[in-house]
Amino acid sequence: MKELLKKTSFWRELVQWGFFAWILYIGIRFGMFVRHFESNGVTPYITRPSGVDGFLPIGGLASLKLWLFTGTFDDKHPAALVLLVTFLLMSLIAKKSFCSWLCPVGTLSEATWKLGKRIFGRTFTMWRWLDIPLRSLKYLLLAFFVKILLIDMPAYAIASFIQSPYWSLSDVKMLRFFTHVSTTTMVIVGITSILSLFYKNFWCRYLCPYGALLGLVSMLSPFKIRRDTSTCTNCQLCTKACPAQLTVHNATAICNVECCGCLSCVEVCPQRSLSMSTGLERKPLPRWVFPVLLLSIYAGGVIIGMVSGHWDSSLTYEDYQRLVPMVDHLTH
Ligand code: SF4
Ligand code: SF4
Ligand code: SF4
Repeated sequence: MKELLKKTSFWRELVQWGFFAWILYIGIRFGMFVRHFESNGVTPYITRPSGVDGFLPIGGLASLKLWLFTGTFDDKHPAALVLLVTFLLMSLIAKKSFCSWLCPVGTLSEATWKLGKRIFGRTFTMWRWLDIPLRSLKYLLLAFFVKILLIDMPAYAIASFIQSPYWSLSDVKMLRFFTHVSTTTMVIVGITSILSLFYKNFWCRYLCPYGALLGLVSMLSPFKIRRDTSTCTNCQLCTKACPAQLTVHNATAICNVECCGCLSCVEVCPQRSLSMSTGLERKPLPRWVFPVLLLSIYAGGVIIGMVSGHWDSSLTYEDYQRLVPMVDHLTH
């Protein structure tokens, strides 16, 4: 047990699954909240968990532009903007750690390739000629959203969109996406899940535009995996452990958009030659510093959002009573 408590992977999995359970709890509560309005008040009323806005990152991106250009903070789903800014800040400071420590999709993705490894005894590496073009897909998706939301859509159009019933009900629509799964979604999720059994983090590596954005921002992070070349024996265990397929054993510092700050390389190094650090420290930072930092950024973002009054939606009980029955008729 004492040995287990010393393992970063143990603490990371604890945080990952704890956060996963928290998101599931939020999702169930939100489902009960919506059910109350769908059933015309027959089922009990549950207060809306504002954290559900974390599922609206694309809307959060539009709100970010509105906020930066006009100073108007979206009042319908303010937590979407708070969480987006928090995760961007987390990437700016603590690399793409949201992906390896908090994101529920990343947690499922990791569990899937680990299951695949148990079943098949190994994971597979994509051919290099295919890996590079496939990796560009997530940037194309990101560019698409950035063009539509940040370049083409003027601030006044975003302001009007934010006031529309469609945006007000975007959380309910998102719930519908999970509870009324379309055939197309099922096929895409099925194919991605099967591929994730064979290839590490298939969705994250090739298709997630959110991860692409966080990865680009993470390049500005002062934290990097650094290798002490004087103690390294070139055993390559770090490279074998890296889920992002980075060649850690021959780099002095990992400057790569794919590094998600999972610390797997640090944990397996028998020489303690690796550390996640800024390069300014006299001694390598203890391993607990990085996780504590990223969790503090998350907690800090949420607390600031709450105390500044930018967390709960301004939509009232009566608004939901009027809007929820319209959900299937709203197309834009
Ligand atoms: S790449 Fe996307 S889905 Fe994967 S862990 Fe990061 S944010 Fe989550
Ligand atoms: S695991 Fe450690 S000792 Fe082995 S190659 Fe990597 S940094 Fe060097
Ligand atoms: S370089 Fe280290 S911290 Fe970065 S993804 Fe690879 S194993 Fe994780």
